[in-house]
Amino acid sequence: MLVEAYGAHAGDKPLEPLQIPRRTPGAHDVQIDIAFCGICHSDLHQVRAEWAGTRFPCVPGHEIVGRVAAVGPDVSGLRVGDLVGVGCIVDSCKHCHDCGAGLENYCDGMVGTYNSPTPDEPGWTLGGYSQKIVVHERYVLRIRHPESQLAAVAPLLCAGITTYSPLRHWNAGPGRKVGVVGIGGLGHMGVKLAHAMGAHVVAFTTSESKREAARALGASEVVVSRHPQELARHAGSFDFILDTVAAPHDLDALLVLLKRDGTLTLVGAPATPHPSPNVFNLIMKRRSLAGSMIGGIPETQEMLDFCAEHGIVADIELVRADQINAAYERMLRGDVKYRFVIDNATLAR
Ligand code: NAP
Ligand code: ZN
Repeated sequence: MLVEAYGAHAGDKPLEPLQIPRRTPGAHDVQIDIAFCGICHSDLHQVRAEWAGTRFPCVPGHEIVGRVAAVGPDVSGLRVGDLVGVGCIVDSCKHCHDCGAGLENYCDGMVGTYNSPTPDEPGWTLGGYSQKIVVHERYVLRIRHPESQLAAVAPLLCAGITTYSPLRHWNAGPGRKVGVVGIGGLGHMGVKLAHAMGAHVVAFTTSESKREAARALGASEVVVSRHPQELARHAGSFDFILDTVAAPHDLDALLVLLKRDGTLTLVGAPATPHPSPNVFNLIMKRRSLAGSMIGGIPETQEMLDFCAEHGIVADIELVRADQINAAYERMLRGDVKYRFVIDNATLAR
């Protein structure tokens, strides 16, 4: 089956309409009519070949929501018409230690929703900037939010889980002081989630225009990180800091804000490295510098259910397919509060 999509033929070319193949659903497959797809900064890194190994044509998109259109004969628990989501993972080996632990995100055989090898045509996966997708049932999430919120649920599938998983792992909760750095797609979800978990949340932004806006997301305090004196007020006080920034920056300025045994976890994945931090900032107070990648399928379902229960969705700006290139430029300027989401109905020609 051929479906309409939006993608690029080279890293220096804009995205444009194209047609892509989707496989006929197998026994355990779910075919989904995609209603909306979020625009993650990873989409831009990949499609512009800022990260190594992009295969073209490249169709990005891993914040997918829609309705089940067909199911294979062996699919259990999902029916035609169900509201579902697909995040960054569409397959994995299913039998390693990580898959067994529900941490498919750390499986060496993880198949990403775009740009990963697959037996399907054309030989690599093509993502959610498309009308339909076919995915093994294990990687399809159930959405329990009201349908009216569906577009704003889409970003939970990447921005939501990528912040939820480290916040849980490093015990964000009552009595803990948590920083979230970079108030974009990921960061604004990090603030909402850490606040809902009961932590004292401090938002770090380079944008003066987000100072008040970040409070509305649930931050008790906001630091505009361009002002060193604002940073200095928080020296040695954080249990945990989650860094979502998409560009290289000074990690020492954040490490010194951690208490003894505090952790700075990086989820932002800039195309070029950060300047190396000063090891003394780690040694002196037994601090940790860590990383985290999205989250496993069971935890993604847990996050979606947590958000449905707490009424949490992303703050979004809905765009047409022909506005994707302009949306990328605005994302680079930090000119979005806080996530662009594509209305996939506008892919139809
Ligand atoms: P985004 O919406 O563009 O947000 C990034 C934010 O970082 C910006 O809004 C801005 O926030 C801040 N920022 C940008 N450039 C900066 C600079 N030069 N110096 C300081 N701050 C800067 O991007 P996103 O979609 O949230 O993604 C963020 C990063 O996470 C990307 O690198 C993406 O590839 C990565 N990512 C990683 C995972 C994972 O599994 N680890 C998953 C998804 C995405 P302020 O305006 O508040 O300063
Ligand atoms: Zn993403």
